[in-house]
Amino acid sequence: MNIGIIGAGALGLAAAYDFTKAGHKVAVYERAPFLGGQAATFDVGGGRLEKGYHHLFRSDRYMVDLIHELGLGPKLAWIESKVGFFHGGTIHKFTTPMDLLKFKPLPMYDRVKLGLLTLRLQRKKYWPQEYEKVTAEEWMKRHAGKRIYEVIWEPMLRGKFGVNASQVSMAWLWGKIYLRTASRGKSLAKEQLGYPMGSFGEVFDVLEATIKKQGGEIIYPSSVEQVIVENGRATGLRIRHKDGREERRAFDRILSTTPSYIFPRLVPELPSDYAAKLSKVVYQAAVLIVMELDRPFSWAYWLNVADRSIPFVGVIEHTNYIDKSHYGGNHVVYLSNYLAKDSPYYKMTPDELWQSYIPALKKINPDFDPSWVKKRHYHKEDAAQPIIGLNYSRQIPSLKTPINDLWLANTTQIYPEDRGTNYSVRLGRQVAKQMMES
Ligand SMILES: Cc1cc2nc3c(=O)[nH]c(=O)nc-3n(C[C@H](O)[C@H](O)[C@H](O)COP(=O)(O)OP(=O)(O)OC[C@H]3O[C@@H](n4cnc5c(N)ncnc54)[C@H](O)[C@@H]3O)c2cc1C
Repeated sequence: MNIGIIGAGALGLAAAYDFTKAGHKVAVYERAPFLGGQAATFDVGGGRLEKGYHHLFRSDRYMVDLIHELGLGPKLAWIESKVGFFHGGTIHKFTTPMDLLKFKPLPMYDRVKLGLLTLRLQRKKYWPQEYEKVTAEEWMKRHAGKRIYEVIWEPMLRGKFGVNASQVSMAWLWGKIYLRTASRGKSLAKEQLGYPMGSFGEVFDVLEATIKKQGGEIIYPSSVEQVIVENGRATGLRIRHKDGREERRAFDRILSTTPSYIFPRLVPELPSDYAAKLSKVVYQAAVLIVMELDRPFSWAYWLNVADRSIPFVGVIEHTNYIDKSHYGGNHVVYLSNYLAKDSPYYKMTPDELWQSYIPALKKINPDFDPSWVKKRHYHKEDAAQPIIGLNYSRQIPSLKTPINDLWLANTTQIYPEDRGTNYSVRLGRQVAKQMMES
């Protein structure tokens, strides 16, 4: 088969890897001038850093397996995480069960209750389908109580889903808790997070080289502008290359890995019921400021910010996880936000956003001074997080579209787990298998 793939993120590359391994011809088109999509990297102090913080959980076995298959297993490091929780003007340690027992913002009774509830959710072997019929807010208020919800879960949901937080189903939150605690191992005491030393970018580079060695092509930056449909069948792609040249190329099968809102623009022939499913999905965008500091900002790798007066939701100090020597000796800190496209913070210029963040940084660390910042970077990802509402399973579009020989696979079809590189790899391999079998 001659297969055309749109998008060279984790999903498109994982699919291309399996297709070429099975002897098929593949051409992957990527509109960006780099590979890896949301997990792409950029240069920081001579090292490679993800534009948005990235790590793996112990439960991410599809990504871990792929890393081993590519021969990068020895470079995969498992490092203990240091988690903090900013509440009431203080950074609380939030790494171990003992930290939870010492967590002052909740009374002792609630701390124990929260620990037991987390254990109960983690013990569920199969995802409980009734969780998609109830919002996370409703479920947590009923089972954990209003206080635990307001201190712990509400800030977390608001951080990820903004004004849409109250629509998010318990199925999503269960997936998050279940898989995160799976990274703690049997003792539950310590969480370990995985990182391919050399960055996720290196994984994509080796994937690219392997796909090419297996006979595939990866062409970027080249944007697919149209899926050519003839008599109800996808027969090719219309591509716009970097130099402005247009190309039409015939394929036997086509896989699109674009976000759902892009796909109907490429295929206006999609039947209305399928297109309606795609347009129902709303994404939150991720907006990130990355600071290179001459000193540490805090002790935490992952700092949840549970304070409504602070305009960002996470401070991820990468160099409290991976040594600063990989990034020219500076301390690397992400300020993370998930925003709707109509949020004023989404619309701000990088400088405006930075100015609005400075007082908040001083609130978290009163010593902080902007002169600590040696360099600052800004990244935006529009399709960062699909909002997972009630009865989401009914809204998921099928991988095989109603147009013959045309398939769609993207993060909106990952459920009930939270999207991540692991699940994009799983879905990429799954759709490739189905396309080869069909
Ligand atoms: C801030 C942030 C932090 C994250 N942290 C983690 C983490 O810690 N661990 C983890 O595992 N995951 C994390 N993720 C999620 C993870 O990065 C994504 O789930 C995964 O990379 C998605 O891969 P994908 O291939 O499905 O989609 P994408 O990466 O979005 O790839 C789709 C590709 O299609 C291309 N494309 C779109 N339209 C066209 C077109 N017309 N023509 C050609 N190409 C096109 C895009 O440019 C893109 O490269 C994070 C994401 C964000 C935003």
